Amino acid sequence: MDGHQGLYFPAKPSKLAIDANIGHLKVMIDLPIQDVYRFCPRCGSASSKIGAVPFRCPSCDYTQFFGPVGAVGGLVVNDSDELLLVRRAKNPGLGKWGLPGGFVDHNESIEDALKREVHEETALDVISFDYLASFPNIYRYKGVAIPVIDLFYVCRVATPYQIELDRTELESYHWCRPGQSELNDMAFESNRKAVVAWLDPP
Ligand SMILES: [Zn+2]
Repeated sequence: MDGHQGLYFPAKPSKLAIDANIGHLKVMIDLPIQDVYRFCPRCGSASSKIGAVPFRCPSCDYTQFFGPVGAVGGLVVNDSDELLLVRRAKNPGLGKWGLPGGFVDHNESIEDALKREVHEETALDVISFDYLASFPNIYRYKGVAIPVIDLFYVCRVATPYQIELDRTELESYHWCRPGQSELNDMAFESNRKAVVAWLDPP
């Protein structure tokens, strides 16, 4: 999500400032993960260089690189070559279109995460998949922006029309060849890029 990295603000803050009250306007600022590391997670010493990548503890030399978290997205396709879009029931991206997917768990392969996430969100069983593309993403939560790498796969499922959505995550779904109305209403830029890559392979 190249464009969104520009939304990091301030680029190099010297102190933690998540909520800023400007007149009557409350502005939420998402700080990059390296800017909220004010203390060493290993020994508790105060950071001497907040915002530096990697974080290096001045006392014990513990080093942390803040590499991206892995996530998967499934482009589930039916026999009519239509794509499954799901409408999100919560933030981030409430009410907008997305693709089934989510974070890779500890000790889990990308392949298993893909099958698990598609099943959890739609009850569909992935029977085969092909790698499509990857796009960087930013996960914003509680004022902190965490780098994510989204890996997208085109998926075939056993029974495309037996969908049962996870209603805590999703409110509806839609089989389609996505057009501008869908592409302009996607929750995440990385998902939009993946759909474009699927519609128009290089
Ligand atoms: Zn330390």
